[in-house]
Amino acid sequence: MHEDKFHDECAVVGVYGHPEAAKLTYLGLYALQHRGQESTGIVASKGQYIHAEVGMGRVNDFFTEQRLARLPGHLAIGHNRYSTTGSSVLRNAQPLLVDYARGSLAIAHNGNLVNAQRLRAELEAHGAIFRSTTDTEVILHLVAQSRAEDVLDGVVEALQQVQGAYSLVLMNHTEIIAARDPRGFRPLCLGQLGDGYVIASETCALDLIEATYLRDVAPGELIRISAAGLQSYFPFPPAPLSPCIFELIYFARPDSDIFGHNVHLIRKAFGRQLAREAPVEADVVIPVPDSGIPAALGYAEESGIPFDTGLIRNHYVGRTFIEPQQAIRHFGVKIKLNAIKSFLRDKRVVVVDDSIIRGTTSQKLVHMIRQAGAKEVHMRISSPPTTHSCLYGIDTPTSEELIASHHTLDEIRDYMQADSLAYLSYEGMMRVAHAEAQSYCSACFTGQYPVQVPQQDNLIQLSLFDKQRL
Ligand code: AMP
Repeated sequence: MHEDKFHDECAVVGVYGHPEAAKLTYLGLYALQHRGQESTGIVASKGQYIHAEVGMGRVNDFFTEQRLARLPGHLAIGHNRYSTTGSSVLRNAQPLLVDYARGSLAIAHNGNLVNAQRLRAELEAHGAIFRSTTDTEVILHLVAQSRAEDVLDGVVEALQQVQGAYSLVLMNHTEIIAARDPRGFRPLCLGQLGDGYVIASETCALDLIEATYLRDVAPGELIRISAAGLQSYFPFPPAPLSPCIFELIYFARPDSDIFGHNVHLIRKAFGRQLAREAPVEADVVIPVPDSGIPAALGYAEESGIPFDTGLIRNHYVGRTFIEPQQAIRHFGVKIKLNAIKSFLRDKRVVVVDDSIIRGTTSQKLVHMIRQAGAKEVHMRISSPPTTHSCLYGIDTPTSEELIASHHTLDEIRDYMQADSLAYLSYEGMMRVAHAEAQSYCSACFTGQYPVQVPQQDNLIQLSLFDKQRL
């Protein structure tokens, strides 16, 4: 038995053709910190020297001047990993760097493979030794097993065997390879930086290092960046597209453009649609900061109800906090969010958040806002009820823990003691996201999984939720 399950929700960056490749990779990871805070790492190469600096914690905590100085060279890749409890261990941190018959190879992966357990069992049966419990390491083993002379062919052979979601960067001494699965579950973009190139999970990373956005890495595309320039390959049969709609709802940063949308603008449009579908008479619209802000702006714009700030987020909250022995009620929420009492008193308040997962945040916030003296509290959620766990890399608890999987709307409203509760409709969400022109993975709302988990894999996503969340 492996001590933890495969899971991932991460950021990747690759920089080729810049004398300070590792420093730019570091900055790219810094911009992508929201995609993972458990561990971070960079691999860089100069001549025959290839070196990894990988560790626990956030980008800015782990990377010091000294660490970055150990990463010279004009090509580098980097990774941020999402926080977890059980598997928050260094050996799962990425990029993974290995030596095999054809030299060194490093990999950084965002996504979740659904057949990794079976592949791993097969590899282990043939004597492979794994050092991590990540699905990513399976890809390295498959590349190493390939008889292909060219690393790119080895990567293609490996990826032909895996199923699920991957946005990847790999590197050896001389080249970077980027790959996105044929369904395009996770974002991945390509930018230009002088004569060099940048690969990143989201465009906000390009903005920080002043790289010019060229295009998304296409679903099913492999890009090789080397002394010969940039080459693009489409070695896999095309598949129906399934970019993850939850990236647009919650996960990506609002200043990023992914899947052809600006994330801030589409979240505002979700909020406007929500106001059309679920209007209410109220004095003020307030967001649950930060992720509820764009949708609350949209809701306010469409409804004509003023937008304001009623909850303040403490941006300095770390992963753990010491609680006094005498328990403080709703401590987890209070340490992160506080209501502005003088402002909320006697008001009818619309509270907008992007999603309800377990329902605990909304329940505690409704209580807090009432305690602050609000007359009415109306919850509005800018996505449909989340009823199914994600198999492709977004951290969601098991279905049983998702409040909407086994409770009706009225039950959820009663549980959180809101005066009213409304979610954005599925149809409304899909219309806003132009689903007629662009299909999505929306399995967390429908249970229709575009890539099934092979039975023998028995993959259960590790819940990343049971940590220091609200
Ligand atoms: P809950 O309290 O379990 O209902 O969680 C709802 C809150 O979690 C909302 O404020 C969301 O913004 C946030 N959220 C949604 N999805 C995720 C995720 N995958 N990881 C962390 N937080 C999330």
